[in-house]
Amino acid sequence: MVQPVGVLALQGDFAEHGAVLQQLGCQVQLVRTVAEAKTIAGIIIPGGESTAIGKLLKSTGLNRWIQQAARRGLPVYGTCAGAIVIAKQVDSPYTLRLIDITVKRNAYGRQLDSFTAPLQSTLFPNLAGVFIRAPKITRLGPKVKTLAWYKQQPVLVETDRILAGCFHPELTKQFLVHRYFIEHTRRFARQK
Ligand code: GLN
Repeated sequence: MVQPVGVLALQGDFAEHGAVLQQLGCQVQLVRTVAEAKTIAGIIIPGGESTAIGKLLKSTGLNRWIQQAARRGLPVYGTCAGAIVIAKQVDSPYTLRLIDITVKRNAYGRQLDSFTAPLQSTLFPNLAGVFIRAPKITRLGPKVKTLAWYKQQPVLVETDRILAGCFHPELTKQFLVHRYFIEHTRRFARQK
């Protein structure tokens, strides 16, 4: 069975992520309930409003489900608000604590300060980052690897199939990070 890639669809720009995954030939499962999460081979937590997403994760019970699934190796990719939701340390009570980083909310400026900029990455050449009231990664745990930088600051990081990014690749035509995440989900599906 081909397992779908999940996109958490409680709040934020989940439709854009779903569209990218579909363009890349994936089956997509929008996830609003634990029942909808059952068959997924990975989950993207989109950008949006991290407090809203965090509250809804709690009320749906998806917070526990995702934590347990991640412990079993489910790949998770948090973008922007999604990165806030999965960070170990952040000024929000709703974090799932899936990746050992500290994140500062809205640290790249307010809505008006949103911008697009070239990133540095050996894995993803010519990657551009769209930043929208983006969080900053201010601390990396010892096992966390940086995959892309903006002005020497880590903006895409990873540990054990958990990926956190400060920018929005779903808003560009470059789907390199999504392709990379899909590879994780395929590996996970093969192992089961
Ligand atoms: N500033 C938002 C928050 O703290 C995140 C912004 C985004 O996801 N683009 O939740």
